[in-house]
Amino acid sequence: MRALRLDGDGLRLVHDEPEPLLEVNDARMKVRLAGICQTDLEVVRGYKGFQGILGHEFVAELVEDTGAWHAGQRVVGEINIGCSQCDLCRTGVASQCHQRRALGIVDYPGAFADYMRLPIHNLHAVSDSISDEAAVFTEPLAAALQILECVPIQPSQRVVLIGAGKLGLLCAQVLKQIGCELIVLARQARSLACLSAWGIEAVDLSKVAWETRIAPASADVVVDCTGNAEGFAAALDIVRPRGTILLKSTYADVPVANLTRIVVDELRVIGSRCGPFAPALRLLASGAVDVRTMTERIYPLDEAETAFDHAAGRGVLKVLLRP
Ligand SMILES: [Zn+2]
Ligand SMILES: [Zn+2]
Repeated sequence: MRALRLDGDGLRLVHDEPEPLLEVNDARMKVRLAGICQTDLEVVRGYKGFQGILGHEFVAELVEDTGAWHAGQRVVGEINIGCSQCDLCRTGVASQCHQRRALGIVDYPGAFADYMRLPIHNLHAVSDSISDEAAVFTEPLAAALQILECVPIQPSQRVVLIGAGKLGLLCAQVLKQIGCELIVLARQARSLACLSAWGIEAVDLSKVAWETRIAPASADVVVDCTGNAEGFAAALDIVRPRGTILLKSTYADVPVANLTRIVVDELRVIGSRCGPFAPALRLLASGAVDVRTMTERIYPLDEAETAFDHAAGRGVLKVLLRP
């Protein structure tokens, strides 16, 4: 089969990849559509030292009847594969398993291929009302929803979101659902156009500094989706004393930050990663989240290398691969 592999000599599409070998309780799937995420770009730059087939955002269909599922059923899947033995797995936190594997990120072949596999219990059915082009956003939308699992945000609160890349735009749409006072700090024209179309207030950082529009120490919650030290530094300046900073992106470097501010201002700093699929699928089915505007381009899998170059461009939104 075809697969986009990352190996010692870089990223390349191969045509002779063996079809995935199933482990006990695995389902074999034919990939219908897959999304390139910022994490994939980081993995190519060496994050996690991963080698193998990339890709963790997908919608696929089952190849054969599997457990209670029928062949042809469209599915999306949670990306963490726990060992099911350790203390964390046994308490239902497989996403933090000590021996965690992750689809296309840690020691597990991913979705940029004709066929893929995952444990059956990782799968969620996709209803007919959700197109492939929307369903492929389930995983990142679930990650955005994890904000609300971590911090109970009230409609009366002021929330500032820093960084409006692909994940940031999904976080903005999730936060908008709450009705809270929401301001997004963004730099890229495409992201600003999306926010404007959705009626979300934004500060264009390519034109003005955030200080011209937001008072320091004024936000109840700051969500940092930048993945850089400047974003975290701005979050420290914008959050009010006893407020919460929520970190949504991994940092490529080790950011230098003024941790004294966290102590003196009695801040809460919370990290969050993967999130709940069921509400993400409900939001996509209801049409409450606009992913169409966020889609930059769909490439055939044969042009996967070109698609990756495109996805790595500044300000580029979601690039998808269709086997
Ligand atoms: Zn991702
Ligand atoms: Zn485990």
